[in-house]
Amino acid sequence: MNDDDQTVQPRPVEPVPTAPAASVPPPVVNVVDADTPCIVCSYNLRGQRRNGRCPECGTAVARTLAGNLLRFASAEYLQAIARGLQLVIWGTIAKTVLSIMGGIAGAALSFMAVTQGGGMAMQGVVMIGAALGGTLLTLVVVAGWLMVSIEDPGIAGTNRGSRARNVVRICAVLSGVGTVIGNLLLFVGPTPMFATGAAGGAGPAATALSLTSLLIMSGSQMAAGLAGIVLFFGSIVYARWLAARVPDPNLVRQSRLYLWLLPVLYVFGSCVIVGPLIAAILYLIYLFTLQRHVLAALAWQASPQAREIMDPTASSSSAHV
Ligand SMILES: [Zn+2]
Repeated sequence: MNDDDQTVQPRPVEPVPTAPAASVPPPVVNVVDADTPCIVCSYNLRGQRRNGRCPECGTAVARTLAGNLLRFASAEYLQAIARGLQLVIWGTIAKTVLSIMGGIAGAALSFMAVTQGGGMAMQGVVMIGAALGGTLLTLVVVAGWLMVSIEDPGIAGTNRGSRARNVVRICAVLSGVGTVIGNLLLFVGPTPMFATGAAGGAGPAATALSLTSLLIMSGSQMAAGLAGIVLFFGSIVYARWLAARVPDPNLVRQSRLYLWLLPVLYVFGSCVIVGPLIAAILYLIYLFTLQRHVLAALAWQASPQAREIMDPTASSSSAHV
């Protein structure tokens, strides 16, 4: 009677004395005991073996049980995120370096202009170079965020991260457009910025035109700045959603912290100049961590274990296709 019971019921896992490999987990043989729709076809997997496959579409049950983990997303989606993050990270680094160098060069030239006279033309060249470089790098960062925030075609369930994703997309475009308009007016406005020093006295009509261009310029730069601020918050909320799909609880916690810590560092740290720089470095390290996770998910997909879980036809793979 006892022998019969043992054959029917799943036995508790016991360590096998002859097998020393503790790293190899024993196969899980229990079944799904709650209503669980298949992540691909919504077939109810209740009663199916946890290590089996959906009888309807062949997707591994383990994949449904794992939810929307990043490592089960399509390789194209992960590659887009990784490349986008690379553009964002390097664009931000280059922008930070450029603004520091531009600031130093501007200050040095102003100093020279005051002490030795002249140097205004040189100052104009530096300003234009910084504005042009800054605009191009802003566009690189915008393109990066648009890649990072593409929609995951394979995601299931209700928490699709759509709101943060759309905030990221809209604000990226707004900050790009605002920056381009604001900086283009430096070159093509009625009185280009670099000419004001040389042209000197102009008629009242030219003054009105230059005032209009100044208003448009400052307005669009302000809009770009605001979009940049909203983009920052949107990017953290969206990155938190991605971090939860790794899953990396530490990065999720860090996201909550950075939502207020980085703005505080940026605003109040400005008094001691290095505040914004520290905030930028923390933000970059945070994005680096996320990118590392995405690359790790891609690397995992190349493993045989991953192919077994992800390919519905893995057991008879070569026969199909
Ligand atoms: Zn299915």
